[in-house]
Amino acid sequence: MDNYGIIGNPVAHSLSPFIHQHFAKQTQQSLLYTPMWVEKNYLSSMLQVFQRSGGKGLNITAPFKEDVVNLVDTLTERARYARAVNTITFLDDGSRVGDNTDGMGFIRDVTLNQKMTLKNKRILILGAGGAARGIIVPILQEQPALLSLLNRTEEKAVQLTREFASLGPIRLANVSQVEAYDVVIKASSNDLSTLPKAILAENSICYDLSYYHQPEFRRWALQQNAAFILNGLGMLVEQAAESFYLWRNVRPAVAPVLALLKQKNAEKPSSR
Ligand code: NDP
Repeated sequence: MDNYGIIGNPVAHSLSPFIHQHFAKQTQQSLLYTPMWVEKNYLSSMLQVFQRSGGKGLNITAPFKEDVVNLVDTLTERARYARAVNTITFLDDGSRVGDNTDGMGFIRDVTLNQKMTLKNKRILILGAGGAARGIIVPILQEQPALLSLLNRTEEKAVQLTREFASLGPIRLANVSQVEAYDVVIKASSNDLSTLPKAILAENSICYDLSYYHQPEFRRWALQQNAAFILNGLGMLVEQAAESFYLWRNVRPAVAPVLALLKQKNAEKPSSR
């Protein structure tokens, strides 16, 4: 049986073991997927121990996604852009490949599960942390009309707009005036007390990357008459499916696992 797992701190809350065990059952793969809690100081030795014991792959969650960039031999292009790794594959030659499937998970959820397009849309991202960094390039690849960033620490948003300026129409949100958006994405780890002045277009989407709707953002989205209020559960299952595919070369079906998670989720996760 091949060994996989997820490393984080905390990690007990992670839904990844549930998701990967269902993927394994569904695709008749024989594998074990274990959550592993680790202190930052032991992160590197934990990876070594896991790899030496024959481990095949790991997911990385907060707060280690950025640290792991320096603990792999090769980064994929999307991990390089994101400057964060959420998936490690341990190859037979002993090398480690670091990848980032979060951005693809977001895009697949929006375009395949929700059947929406980001092309020519005006998009606002609230936040400029690891998750924002992971979705910026995949969003720009979808050719939006505009991608605006708004973050509590403005300098971090400025940095991101500079870094990705050559890849598409990205700029800082203009907080001094009301702006119109088709898609607003909350990529901040806390609920936001200050939300932007914005007008949402018809059929607009408010997407909270958290797995559960956070009340302030949801209230704001309702006040703005958002047509669809989505949470990050679909992205979570999609990013996991991409990791599973990288490791096992089989793409599991997302819909049944997402349905199980929605059932488990006491709160109604999406208006759609
Ligand atoms: P980071 O810690 O890297 O970034 C946190 C971001 O939130 C920063 O922009 C920070 O602003 C902002 N922030 C934090 N607290 C506040 C506050 N009180 N008011 C305003 N802004 C605040 O976190 P991540 O980017 O990794 O994660 C962000 C969210 O995305 C989390 O909820 C996470 O669970 C979710 N996520 C979901 C995934 C999925 O698969 N669905 C995958 C990855 C993440 P500042 O720069 O000023 O500190």
